[in-house]
Amino acid sequence: MSETGQYDILIVGAGHAGAQAAISLRQRNYDGTIALLGDEPSLPYERPPLSKEYLSGDKPFERILLRPAVFWTDRAITLLPGRTVVDVDPVAHQVTTADGGIIVYGTLIWATGGSPRRLTCTGHDLTGVHGVRTRADVDQMMAELPQVERVVVIGGGYIGLEAAAVLTKLGRHVTVIEAQDRVLARVAGEPLSRFYEAEHRARGVDLRTGVAVSCIEETDGAACGVRLADGEILCCEMVIVGIGIVPAVAPLLAAGAEGDNGVMVDDHCRTTLPDVFAIGDCAAHANAFAAGATIRLESVQNANDQATTVAKMLTGAAEPYHAVPWFWSNQYDLKLQTVGLSTGYDEAILRGNPAERSFSVIYLKAGHVIALDCVNRVRDYVQGRALVVGSFEADPELLADPAIDLKAIPSKPAEV
Ligand code: FAD
Repeated sequence: MSETGQYDILIVGAGHAGAQAAISLRQRNYDGTIALLGDEPSLPYERPPLSKEYLSGDKPFERILLRPAVFWTDRAITLLPGRTVVDVDPVAHQVTTADGGIIVYGTLIWATGGSPRRLTCTGHDLTGVHGVRTRADVDQMMAELPQVERVVVIGGGYIGLEAAAVLTKLGRHVTVIEAQDRVLARVAGEPLSRFYEAEHRARGVDLRTGVAVSCIEETDGAACGVRLADGEILCCEMVIVGIGIVPAVAPLLAAGAEGDNGVMVDDHCRTTLPDVFAIGDCAAHANAFAAGATIRLESVQNANDQATTVAKMLTGAAEPYHAVPWFWSNQYDLKLQTVGLSTGYDEAILRGNPAERSFSVIYLKAGHVIALDCVNRVRDYVQGRALVVGSFEADPELLADPAIDLKAIPSKPAEV
């Protein structure tokens, strides 16, 4: 049934950012009406386990819910699941949903994330070809798995590699193909890429870099292989495509908001439309930890922290967004924790020995620490955070010595 209604705050997108915005508003004693509308049918849930414990079957859906149903009713947050906003009218302060409903808002918080980028080649839409973004995507994969022996993962980013690790553990033969010359090339330095490549190969993954896809081969409407640019066909029953996302911002841009790859927001997450904010994966912002460059961050940290920024703004305690980026990835028994953004680094220091499966990579730019990738090294992650936040300068030789605690290394903050 189409929904008509009116709310002081309407949040579109019931993922990490949208849910956290509603939670933070109530935590800050906001007492107006709040609706949390999303196109998925279920209660808001955690997305990271989709390529980890949910796919492996270690966590059922109930254990990845962000909050139980009663939480939302107790706090008078109206959930509007299964609805897609297709139009935003910033003058009338209203949105239209795909089923023709019209919802009037005082303030609109746009938190729609993105949809998996699709292949453009022949066969991209065959049965057995999957993106990994929603519970429905993963449920479909899990339903097909009993008939699957061989999987080809296209894209060697975090999501593709996590899925490869789980499926390998589940006994499938997995091939990962990456167009660039190393996995994780967009987000990490070479030592980390080479380490993960070796780990996957050691567990039987056929991992290939510098390889382009020509098309997906078909039999009876289903994928049966991936044809590479050199003509080789990798036979498989399932294809997983992990090549990034396209931010879901079309209705906002059509309404006149500034943006392109994401909707532009200022440091209070305001878009250029009146009373319209945007947060999470879909929000393009100037980030201090990327030297002020305009970026979108795709992480739970960013979703939650931008949600809090908006809640503060709407409850009279405005504070600009200045959160240090952090991220994690679990593959096999390897726990990677990342703090800062390594993009633009000019020196990568290896701290510890990858062969011992506990090490960090410290990224410097002009002598200042800008990021750390820590593999099974929680202590470095915890202590290194301060070095990134203050953009500290420290002796590379000391940073490289795993016997010296990072917090014990003399360091000098960046001059502002
Ligand atoms: P989402 O959580 O995607 O929520 C957006 C919601 O809006 C979705 O439900 C979407 O369907 C809905 N929507 C879109 N358009 C509309 C519309 N027009 N109308 C109504 N609803 C709409 N991050 C980490 O930090 N660590 C990890 O280990 C990690 N692992 C991940 C693993 C996977 C498989 C995936 C997919 C992501 C992972 N991430 C991880 C990233 C993290 O989950 C995202 O950064 C985070 O979910 C972003 O939150 P969001 O609210 O911006 O978007």
